[in-house]
Amino acid sequence: MTRQSVDFAPAKLYSPLVQPLAFYSTNGSAPLVDLRQALLQGQAPDRGLYLPQKFPHLTAAELAGKPYPEIAFEVLRRFAVGILDDATLRTLCTDAYNFDVPLEKVYDRVQVMRLDRGPTASFKDFAARMMARLIGRFVRETGKTLTILTATSGDTGSAVASAFHNVPGIRVLVLFPIAEVSDRQRKQMTTLRDNIRTIAVDGKFDDCQALVKRAFADPALSALPLSSANSINIGRLLPQAVYYFHAAAQLGEPLVIAVPSGNFGDMMGAVFAREMGLQVRRLVVPVNGNDEFPRFLATGRYEKIEPSRNCLSNAMNVGHPSNLARLVAIYGGQMDETGKLHRVPDLFRMRRDLFSTTVSDDQTRATIKQAWAEHKLLLEPHGAVGWRGFLDYCAAEPLGDSPAVVLETAHPAKFPEEIERLLGFSPEVPASLTALDKLPEDFDRMPVDYGQFQKYLLSRYA
Ligand SMILES: *Cc1c(COP(=O)(O)O)cnc(C)c1O
Repeated sequence: MTRQSVDFAPAKLYSPLVQPLAFYSTNGSAPLVDLRQALLQGQAPDRGLYLPQKFPHLTAAELAGKPYPEIAFEVLRRFAVGILDDATLRTLCTDAYNFDVPLEKVYDRVQVMRLDRGPTASFKDFAARMMARLIGRFVRETGKTLTILTATSGDTGSAVASAFHNVPGIRVLVLFPIAEVSDRQRKQMTTLRDNIRTIAVDGKFDDCQALVKRAFADPALSALPLSSANSINIGRLLPQAVYYFHAAAQLGEPLVIAVPSGNFGDMMGAVFAREMGLQVRRLVVPVNGNDEFPRFLATGRYEKIEPSRNCLSNAMNVGHPSNLARLVAIYGGQMDETGKLHRVPDLFRMRRDLFSTTVSDDQTRATIKQAWAEHKLLLEPHGAVGWRGFLDYCAAEPLGDSPAVVLETAHPAKFPEEIERLLGFSPEVPASLTALDKLPEDFDRMPVDYGQFQKYLLSRYA
């Protein structure tokens, strides 16, 4: 069942004297790899997820006053030693992060960090743009063409497609659940064309993800150069450690961080930052009605939710977060790709570091209204889950004068109907989104049928 996505030339080191950082698989039976291999493979051959064997060290104090691309460079160069030279990496960071990362004061030392200023107006741009540049560079070195296969619940697909659009040597195929994405989310994927193809699946996000996972494990497809851009790719996580350092460099430490969570990729960025040296007082990870994680934290028993529940914050409709295996590994446990726990993590430490609650759709709507009425804080449903989770945390453990940052992960204009209904006005639409309305769409359609998907892949990419 093992497959290698790409045949690698032996790793080209820019300096033979520097030992690159090693990455291991959470399933524990794959060889160690370097950053280049981890990025190109996506998933480890034993179906585990890659994690750095050792976290490099960095403190927020060293980063005070630095612009965002420079903070990204300082974080990422520590993972890329021996793989990418500083000048190249710095160029990639400047090129990827050509937009603002604003912090908006709400009250006292509490701020909302808006991660919605990238080209597709969600936080997924941060990882996708960096990963596309890194993978594009590594693939060029091999002289091959790589097909990125990804399933999306809305925002990943558009961020990934936009990030890889017209990157030489790369083709992208995105699967999305036809009824679960908004018009704008769909148009962000289906209007790009060129090296980007999209399939609308008559099913749920979990069905899309299952089709993709099965393709990766399918021996009949082992000759196809496929790679993943889902949040299982370590290249999606490393850039997501950066904005926590950016926040701490401005707000101070120890920091309370609240991250609305679905697949747990975003919150893993904060865990990585903490493992590197960021001082985190508590990491708050609220979820929507897909509450398998807060239940696990409370009981120590893990049960995924199948099928996942359809909630307002649709990019978080995940019944089994793919990054949970990584979180469990960081806390000394082991979970395989099916969600089975082989070794229980240190729950005591997890409960001390993390706080999680479930936020219903009614609470999400009420929070959008309340945040606007009390603070003129404009939130969309994902950010509202984050804000509500933060308030739940403050009720359980008074904040005092701790600095806190709550993530807003999408632009409110991506959910105009909901906001109009609740607040009586439509959020201003950024130019990157209005341009879409006029572009023609192009996508294929498919039932949840692995046989058909396999044929599609073979006919197009073999
Ligand atoms: C993907 C997404 C999330 C959830 O992030 P995870 O890394 O999957 O936990 C939250 N908000 C928005 C807008 C998203 O697109």
